[in-house]
Amino acid sequence: MRITCVALLSLGLCSGLSSTLAAAVDSKPLLAFAARIAGDNARTRIVIDFEEKPEFSVHYIGSPERVIIDLPATTFAFPEADLAARGLFSDIRYGTMDESSARIVLTAIRPVRLALAEVQPNEQGGFRLVLDAEMVSAEIFADLVKKQTWTTPAAAKPEDITTAAKDDVFTVAVDAGHGGIDAGATGAASKTPEKTITLAFARVLAAKLSEQKGVEAFLTRDKDTFLSLSERVMIARQHGADLFISLHADTLAQKDIRGATVYTLSDRASDRMAENLAMRENLSDQLAGFSLQSGPPEVADILLDLTRRETQAFSITLANTVVKSFEGQIGLINNPHRHAGFQVLRAPDIPSVLLELGFLSNPEDEKLLLDEGWRARVADLIANAVVRYRTQALADGG
Ligand code: ZN
Repeated sequence: MRITCVALLSLGLCSGLSSTLAAAVDSKPLLAFAARIAGDNARTRIVIDFEEKPEFSVHYIGSPERVIIDLPATTFAFPEADLAARGLFSDIRYGTMDESSARIVLTAIRPVRLALAEVQPNEQGGFRLVLDAEMVSAEIFADLVKKQTWTTPAAAKPEDITTAAKDDVFTVAVDAGHGGIDAGATGAASKTPEKTITLAFARVLAAKLSEQKGVEAFLTRDKDTFLSLSERVMIARQHGADLFISLHADTLAQKDIRGATVYTLSDRASDRMAENLAMRENLSDQLAGFSLQSGPPEVADILLDLTRRETQAFSITLANTVVKSFEGQIGLINNPHRHAGFQVLRAPDIPSVLLELGFLSNPEDEKLLLDEGWRARVADLIANAVVRYRTQALADGG
């Protein structure tokens, strides 16, 4: 029951696709056991101690200026406070990209370059990665960005993507929000990262969906790894997904707000809260050191436009069906169907919704989000909604 699918778009995978370094997948991760940072906003030094000698590569990305250090799989075991941003850097993040790689993203307050980036042996054994950053002119930084090369696996080309043939199986992509270097929001009391909650919920939901007759669900990620927003869409498409459901549990400044929200795509946000949330979600790629995504390539194609509109109508139907199945069963915020410009919902041919299951900023919601019984109940309601949606879409001749 796939809706008309026309010329597949390359969704503009950006240049920094999770770089898989040469490190063997089965070797155990490197251990980064200590770190320190010193300096001022003209010159800043970062030192990270490793047990084994790390291979690494350095890249630069603009707007905002960032330095990206790619490493083989690494366990970062030092206290976060030891590598707190200072000097030339306003934000420092590190974590898993995929099974064989990790990344450090240094967001700079002004154009910078690494005057020194090398691994030195420690006197007492082990190695230290030394990164000396210095301020440079915007011209020099632009030059660094332009002249560098990324040795990354080629992004999937549109022609490599096989769209599943029309079949009787209704395929649902279940997308656990965030992951790896991008932890998402943090639980106010439990400190549980959003990426852990979304993955746990995604597993339950995929299992419940696959129990339904004629429905098969799969996860866009089944581990604590990073996926860019366009990779998520790409994976859904490669599996011939008929539906895309992205799962989240964010935080709000207003801690009393609680309950679930269902979002669909719209270039104009329904309200300020939706707008802010989409903006934060769309930052995910940037946090992980990707170039900022511009919107999808604008193609003047009437067929594509029709497909988009059709997809949009299906997405709204799905959102309404989910809201209806939640009503009276689990908490919803006011106006539970909202819309905004979420990058992850941009597949032109796959009806997509983003579900905020609840808010990690609200203590009651946090308790529920961590409760297995509640998760199972909500997953059941969503699975029922998907089955109802499918029946209705079939009846409408979709
Ligand atoms: Zn989120």
